[in-house]
Amino acid sequence: MNTIDCNKCGYSFDLEDARCGTIEKGDLLVQYFCCPNCRKKYHAFTSDARMRALVEQRKAVQLKIRAAFTKKFRKKTIQEYERKLDRIKQQQKKLLPGLKAAGEKILRQAENTSEGVQNADATRTDTTRPN
Ligand SMILES: [Zn+2]
Repeated sequence: MNTIDCNKCGYSFDLEDARCGTIEKGDLLVQYFCCPNCRKKYHAFTSDARMRALVEQRKAVQLKIRAAFTKKFRKKTIQEYERKLDRIKQQQKKLLPGLKAAGEKILRQAENTSEGVQNADATRTDTTRPN
């Protein structure tokens, strides 16, 4: 269980249940959690196109490694895959701090401007409503 205490209201909740939305800003996709009690937003994960590409690559390599083990590929081949996975992880690690900072900033701005972004999808469909 990945539980945190809301630092605004003190409510204890499980992060897995609290994923509540995504904010899109240009190239950035900010995923966030909400406290179920007071709706305070918490940063979960921010990605840009480069990070999303790395996430996909990482998934693909992890699948390859799993397949390589079940099909008993040569050790050398598996090691090559693992090196590739490490390189992807390293690149992600380098990108993360900048993305997190940008994501948290966007989150704070969203919190200050309106509560409407709480459900970004619903807000978006609203704008297409005929007058
Ligand atoms: Zn709270």
